[in-house]
Amino acid sequence: LVRLRARLARSQNSLGKGLLSLLSREHLDEDTWEEIEDTLLTADVGVQPTQELVERLRERVKVLGTRTPEELRTLLREELLALVGTDFDRQVKTEKEGDTPGIVMVVGVNGTGKTTTTGKLARVLVADGSTVVLGAADTFRAAAADQLQTWGERVGAYTVRGPEGGDPASVAFDAVKEGKEMGVDVVLIDTAGRLHTKTGLMDELGKVKRVVEKHAPLDEVLLVLDATTGQNGLVQARVFAEVVDITGIVLTKLDGTAKGGIVVAVQRELGVPVKLVGLGEGPDDLAPFEPEAFVDALIG
Ligand code: GDP
Repeated sequence: LVRLRARLARSQNSLGKGLLSLLSREHLDEDTWEEIEDTLLTADVGVQPTQELVERLRERVKVLGTRTPEELRTLLREELLALVGTDFDRQVKTEKEGDTPGIVMVVGVNGTGKTTTTGKLARVLVADGSTVVLGAADTFRAAAADQLQTWGERVGAYTVRGPEGGDPASVAFDAVKEGKEMGVDVVLIDTAGRLHTKTGLMDELGKVKRVVEKHAPLDEVLLVLDATTGQNGLVQARVFAEVVDITGIVLTKLDGTAKGGIVVAVQRELGVPVKLVGLGEGPDDLAPFEPEAFVDALIG
């Protein structure tokens, strides 16, 4: 976890540092406030949250009068924390009830890191002592099932797969059935994320969801978003939220971008918390999202 924090800090601290140095200027004139706004927008915080934050900062700086660096840091930390939100329940819930495993569906556009995230999440669960079945319901991307199975073998989870191009809902159903029979704790279902038509996506994901829910309650629907895609990620989020009830967001590739502000923007957009972040391609590169650690990484 320490390593993850360090990596997060490396990619993120330009935003906080930039803000701090701007706020430290002797004269906070309109140009400076505009620069502060630009810094936030560039980091993908989003228009409305940016305006709100700038307003709050203006007010508090005015009240403060003379500013010591320490006071400014504390002030900025508090305001960024408030923006990121400390009240969300960010735990990934997987509850086994009787012989029915907890079910987690992982959705998102192809290339965002869905399969990788499913594999990493399986690893976390197995490390916590849970038994896991993986459902390779992304039957459209040619290598997706192989990729997931490789993850399964690596982390010690059994993978249920169907024929390539087969029906995703039937794979999801089989995975749940298998999970029940095996008596495992959790079934993770990787889904296909072709966004070429919204109705296609709706039909497909909606069907997977319905089929699964006939046999077991869905504990979580995690939406995987690539942090590097910025505002595009928001558009994707909106489309998916129309199709399924998203319960949590996984923000991937936060290791390679300084655009961590997307955490704020996407939570606003969907009203659900970022629960996990991806900080690399390796099996240990998935971390719970912790607002304090995140904001500390921002400010450096
Ligand atoms: P899917 O199509 O959504 O299932 O995407 P994949 O899981 O195949 O991931 C697409 C690419 O992104 C792969 O090369 C992954 O290794 C990479 N990837 C996934 N998550 C992360 C992450 O958190 N950080 C980085 N740097 N790369 C990631």
